[in-house]
Amino acid sequence: MSEKIASAPSCADPFDGESISLDEALARISERVVPVHACERLPIRDCLGRVNNEAVKSPHDVPPHPNSAMDGFAVNIGGLGAGGISELDAIGTAYAGVPFDGSIEPGQCVRIMTGALIPEGADAVVMQEQAEVGADGRIRIDADHRVGENIRRAGEDVSQGDIVIDAGVRLSPADLGVLASLGIAQLQVKRKPVVAFFSTGDELMPVGEPLEPGKIYDSNRYTLHGMLSRMAVDIIDLGVVRDEPQAMRDALESAASKADLILSTGGVSVGEADYIKPALEDIGSTEFWKIAIKPGRPLTLGQIGASIFMGLPGNPVAVMVTFSQFVVPAIEVLSGARPHRPALFRARALEAMRKKPGRYEFQRGIATLDENNQWQVAKTGKQGSGILTSMSRANCFIVLPDENTGVAAGDEVNIQFFDWAR
Ligand code: AMP
Ligand code: MG
Repeated sequence: MSEKIASAPSCADPFDGESISLDEALARISERVVPVHACERLPIRDCLGRVNNEAVKSPHDVPPHPNSAMDGFAVNIGGLGAGGISELDAIGTAYAGVPFDGSIEPGQCVRIMTGALIPEGADAVVMQEQAEVGADGRIRIDADHRVGENIRRAGEDVSQGDIVIDAGVRLSPADLGVLASLGIAQLQVKRKPVVAFFSTGDELMPVGEPLEPGKIYDSNRYTLHGMLSRMAVDIIDLGVVRDEPQAMRDALESAASKADLILSTGGVSVGEADYIKPALEDIGSTEFWKIAIKPGRPLTLGQIGASIFMGLPGNPVAVMVTFSQFVVPAIEVLSGARPHRPALFRARALEAMRKKPGRYEFQRGIATLDENNQWQVAKTGKQGSGILTSMSRANCFIVLPDENTGVAAGDEVNIQFFDWAR
């Protein structure tokens, strides 16, 4: 019998009973991350992308008064005889912002512009295309009109007291418009979480210096910086931390004094786990997870004081996968935003894809629309977790769930667009 060396756990292992599922990892993250508490009051323009702190109730109706949805003639339909053509005297004009001062009797009308207040006595607006102006200047309309026609009711959009924006909503351009329509100039939003990040690895060199033998450039800090810059967070780049216990402890302690969330990349595979893990245990607590996903299997979650630590893998693609699947939701919880899962779209696979059951896979895809406007997706070539060009060429992840055992060309798959996808 040939002798064998007992191997320690590694990324190459088949997915075993110790691995936790993607959903389990997400559940644990949202259990452990505590939303920021503090708020700030900002002019509404500065609230874009920020998290609303308290439900906003409308102080009044929107629109505040009944007004015309069309250019035309404000009339009193109720007062007209049934059937036939009515001839009406035009007694004035109502402009948006300059109301008609007076009221309409049956047999009269007021020329009215879109957005103008409905004059007293009017119960409908006949659009100008459906009215005739006679040689005598009188306005002729037929009997084909009903009460309420082309009138926007007061409170049609929002009634006084309605909740228009819930707490925990990340504010969109439309939300800013709604706030403005209510006359609300400032809003209380959660403060931005502070996210600090660093790279680990003695092989890493900063860009801008000639590459030394055996070294590589640190790319993870650039992808992380890019992804974080698109979120409503304050960012602290802590550079590269040497693979050395004291350096690691110092970096973690200094990060914890400033940041709500600390991210590191690298140093969580077996040989190096020794640097981050003991450092974390000295000054806080740590959990090491194997997650049944590819790429991005190992993830360390820790706590230092009130700060959460997430140790991402070192491989550049795994960094981006774990960031999108775990760090983004962690930041959402931290921000006080309501949780949501990333949107998945169905796409037709343009090629076969190999896949083992028992783990989630995030392959890099290029999604395009076919001649019927349906999504179709191809892989970006080699899918190794160190092949970062597979990410930069892609516009989406091809998301293959646990139970999937492979894809044939023509099968439907789920895709998840990158939020920076072009
Ligand atoms: P580690 O988890 O530290 O063993 O790293 C796994 C792989 O990712 C190794 O090939 C590292 O060289 C590479 N790697 C780690 N950190 C970085 C980084 N910041 N930029 C680019 N590659 C990295
Ligand atoms: Mg390393």
